[in-house]
Amino acid sequence: MRTAIALFTRDLRVRDNPVLAGARAAADRVVPLFVLDNTLLLTSHGRPNRFGFLAESLRDLDQSLRERGGALFVRRGDWVEEVLRVAKQGDATTIHVARDISGYAQARLARLQSAAPMDVTTHDSITVVPPAAFGKPFVVFAPYYNRWLDASWRGLAPLPRRMSLPEDVEIGALPRGASPGTWQGGERAGLARLKAWTARGLRGYAARRDDPGADETSRLSPYLHFGCVSALEVASRLWDRTGSTELLRQLCWRDFYAQLLSWRPAVAHDDLRPGTAPVWRDAPGDFEAWKAGRTGFPFVDAGMRQLHAEGWMHNRVRMVVASFLTRDLRIDWREGARHFMDLLVDGDVANNQLNWQWVAGTGTDANPHRVLNPTLQGRDHDPGGVYVRRWIRELRDVPPDVDIHDPPFDVRRMTRYSEPIIDHHEAIEMWRASRGPRPGRGSADAT
Ligand code: FAD
Repeated sequence: MRTAIALFTRDLRVRDNPVLAGARAAADRVVPLFVLDNTLLLTSHGRPNRFGFLAESLRDLDQSLRERGGALFVRRGDWVEEVLRVAKQGDATTIHVARDISGYAQARLARLQSAAPMDVTTHDSITVVPPAAFGKPFVVFAPYYNRWLDASWRGLAPLPRRMSLPEDVEIGALPRGASPGTWQGGERAGLARLKAWTARGLRGYAARRDDPGADETSRLSPYLHFGCVSALEVASRLWDRTGSTELLRQLCWRDFYAQLLSWRPAVAHDDLRPGTAPVWRDAPGDFEAWKAGRTGFPFVDAGMRQLHAEGWMHNRVRMVVASFLTRDLRIDWREGARHFMDLLVDGDVANNQLNWQWVAGTGTDANPHRVLNPTLQGRDHDPGGVYVRRWIRELRDVPPDVDIHDPPFDVRRMTRYSEPIIDHHEAIEMWRASRGPRPGRGSADAT
């Protein structure tokens, strides 16, 4: 009897899971295992919003495995030590695991590979196209997108029907925890969301994905982050559907950032293009006002309040609040990224840090001089003020003829909504004056 470990990380699903399918094909008995990694739990990865979603996703995975004669084995501690302990107890001949991209994940896997006496087989299951698929990394999105559209994709991994477990390994306890707001972790909830969203039709997405009041985006990001749904399966299912181009493009952005981080993990904290950052300000009062949604700029404040309430924020508003922090307040993008990681259910090192860098102008934006005016962005993308009214209680009953994205002084006073903490135009002048040399088009060793 051969035993294999199917080591789950952020591929918490039974459908299209190459790790599970690989372990199932390699052995008679499979130990589906998840290790709560103490090192990660002590960092922002262990914050309550994401931990709650993770706990629900693990429970859901356990249920799916039990329906197939299996169960999810759970351990907590040093990731490598715990995996090897279970492998030894189960007399496993092989460990199957997904290749991941952050510096920590890569080092953790390397540590496992060098310590394991048995074979460790790695699979690409996190992105649509594997990070190393095109050899040389890309730092510019457009050429990457063209390559991505032409790439051949792996076939979907088969769904294991039945599995058997070794008898002499203790199963362990699933963690407790619940997602914030209306989120529900797990593969079932993720697939239900995908189904409901695609049934509404993709045309609404293409037309209104930048309108946060309409809330037409898929909200699949936490499911993709934890791998409750497979990015490849989503892309394959939608490829031929009318109106899918925009969604595929977003999935490509996800792959694009994954290949960048995988190639250069230090960009999680270092500027991708050194020398492009402005002189950052140390302004704790402004930072607190931004975090609390009390900047006096309604579109920015609505976003920050949505983040607090839901552990999630619409993409357009993420761009605007990030621009406000890094351009108007000139506070280091790392501070904003850290706050996002503290609260986001979908908090993801590649997507978060590299989107922050994109907005801050230190990353991959081909136009790093772009400035998002928070008032004009609100008028353009939330013309009826639906989003602002939803999240800013003080402004909920402001009459329709008032410019809700720049309420006059008397309206602010009556509703007790804050005055703007800065003058946008003056702040942008200061930002321009404080910037370093203009960025180049990319580093020498990348496309
Ligand atoms: P949809 O529009 O339905 O897109 C589908 C999927 O494509 C998303 O679920 C996501 O996986 C991917 N995607 C969409 N936009 C982007 C993008 N710009 N970059 C990379 N992938 C994208 N996304 C995260 O998943 N985690 C983060 O921590 C994160 N932090 C961000 C921080 C900032 C400052 C900004 C500007 C963006 C950030 N994003 C992050 C990207 C984007 O805002 C979210 O993926 C998106 O809002 C999730 O909503 P959705 O699932 O409805 O997206």
